[in-house]
Amino acid sequence: MKVTRRGFIATTAIGGASLALDLKAQSKPGRAAALPSALPKKAVIISAANGYNYLDRGYAVLSSGGDTLDAVMQVITGPEDDPNDDSVGLGGLPNEDCVVELDACCMHGPTRMAGSVAGVRDIKNVSLLAKTVMEHTGHVMLVGEGAQKFGFLMGFPKENLLTERSRKTWQLWRETMSNDDWWGPGLASPKFKFPDTAGNVSEFYDERIERMEKLAEKIGIAPEFRMAAIERVLNPPSGTIHCSVVNEKGEMSGATTTSGLAWKLAGRAGDSPIIGAGSYTDQDVGSAGATGNGEENIKVCGAHTIVENMRRGMSPQEAGMDALKRIVRNYEGTPEKLQYVDMSYYILRKDGAYAGVCMWSGPPEHPRRFAVNDGTKRYENAVALYQGQSLGWPPMPGRKRLAPKQKK
Ligand code: ASP
Repeated sequence: MKVTRRGFIATTAIGGASLALDLKAQSKPGRAAALPSALPKKAVIISAANGYNYLDRGYAVLSSGGDTLDAVMQVITGPEDDPNDDSVGLGGLPNEDCVVELDACCMHGPTRMAGSVAGVRDIKNVSLLAKTVMEHTGHVMLVGEGAQKFGFLMGFPKENLLTERSRKTWQLWRETMSNDDWWGPGLASPKFKFPDTAGNVSEFYDERIERMEKLAEKIGIAPEFRMAAIERVLNPPSGTIHCSVVNEKGEMSGATTTSGLAWKLAGRAGDSPIIGAGSYTDQDVGSAGATGNGEENIKVCGAHTIVENMRRGMSPQEAGMDALKRIVRNYEGTPEKLQYVDMSYYILRKDGAYAGVCMWSGPPEHPRRFAVNDGTKRYENAVALYQGQSLGWPPMPGRKRLAPKQKK
């Protein structure tokens, strides 16, 4: 078909006009009825508990009229830079090949832009890298070598992310847990097998810990970190940091960054770099993010589901509980599997209302918490779907079984 200059201009002008009509149709009052109309009385920051020490940095950005995504970055680069936070950035626990691979994503409410990176090695601040993808490319997501190459070209320094402490913890895992890894049928598979708990389980468990303590000493793990290292091997931690922010004008942003699940297969990307799963912000409604088993969260598009729930009028807590129940729904026939699922959501509505919800409450002496700053920095307990503690992954004999008991 021959396209003339006049014809081209006429067609694109018609396209533009019909788009304008569509947008008008979307904002009919009926559809927008549930959107929060009030502005927040104060700026609010919500984050995973490991963001607590950096909330003031984020709040200072908001108080001086800075951008909401810059405030988020001030919070989440804190744990990325901290070698002792082994769930994020520098010092993150490595994959099964002993390589640290990081994932992150971010969304900027006012411009409705997003950026993401996955499987990045040798660059510590992947949250800033995701923001750089957002600001300096026409793409949303870069992965692996391409993301790294882009990062180096944009001036990110090449750094060794594996601390000696994380390396030794990996070695302890490798030497003691070679049968308990991420290979084989996953939790969702009908072929999944619960660990064999026949025999005297606690004796088995005690013996195993004793053996591991000796090995930890041999590997050179510092005495004060030995039990923590064993805990990380037997019960691979879920960490990660998500942070969402709203300022007094109602502008919002959110981001999530992680080293992912400890001992994962090389190249595995979890929910944290997935816009809509690990993090999601809609300037009209709210912002939400997740930490926990990424595989479960991806399947329910957790962060997006929560924001959409709020759009339809649910409170932040109801919206988060609904997302957790969608995960539960995925295990309808085998609720025992939920004992291995750890999931927390951090939820902030545009009017400043917020909630932290989680699948398992944690032990009474260490309830699952999140961090908030609305001018006053504090921890708050998350509202749990089930009372009790989740078990680590991969499943192994000796961990106590929990029967899911739903609270609400
Ligand atoms: N959600 C992260 C992932 O699956 C891990 C975590 O939050 O601990 O990679």
